[in-house]
This record gives sequence, structure tokens and C-alpha cells, in this order.
Amino acid sequence: MSDLIDRQAAIDALNELSEHYTEKGREWHPHIDHVLFEIQSLPAADVRMIVRGEWIKEIKHHKDDEQEFNYEDIRCSHCGVRRRIGWYGANFCPNCGADMRGDSDV
Ligand SMILES: [Zn+2]
Repeated sequence: MSDLIDRQAAIDALNELSEHYTEKGREWHPHIDHVLFEIQSLPAADVRMIVRGEWIKEIKHHKDDEQEFNYEDIRCSHCGVRRRIGWYGANFCPNCGADMRGDSDV
């Protein structure tokens, strides 16, 4: 498995290091421009951001002419969609696709 890094962060790190060497009066490696070019030329990884959420239980109240009771619903912490309590434990939100299997981003 390859490591994924932020291209701009790598470029910024090299530029910062270059400035550090220049400030110290040292000669920076003459091929740094080639390294920067190569980093900028590398293909982007085919990745998707993982949106994480969690099911939040909510107590609802129902009242009509014939009955009155409380019941539990759940709500997606990412998009807010509500589902019946039977969806609690579902790995993904059916509305936004948020991954409910770990720590929430929200
Ligand atoms: Zn959602």
C-alpha cells in the first residue's frame, strides 16, 4: 500500500527548506527545481474523502386523536436525515453515504 501525501505540503516543505539553506548562506542543491518539477508532475492518487458520521438517537413524541406515545428515531450527524430506530447500527447513511463505523467528523 502506498503512502498518500499532500502534494502542496511537499512543495511547501521543500521551498521552506530551500529558504532555510539560503538564509544560512549555504548553497541549496542545484537540482531542487528538478525535484519540484517531478513532484508537480506525479499523477494524483485516485482517492475519495471519507465522510464520517454517527447515528444520534432522538426521542420523538407522537400525539393524535387516538393515541399519544414516545418513540426513538435516529439522525445522521453529517446530513441530518432521520430514520427509524431500526437503522441504528447501519454502517452507512443511506442519504449522504457517511461512514458510521468509526469516529465522527462532526
Ligand atoms: Zn447522512
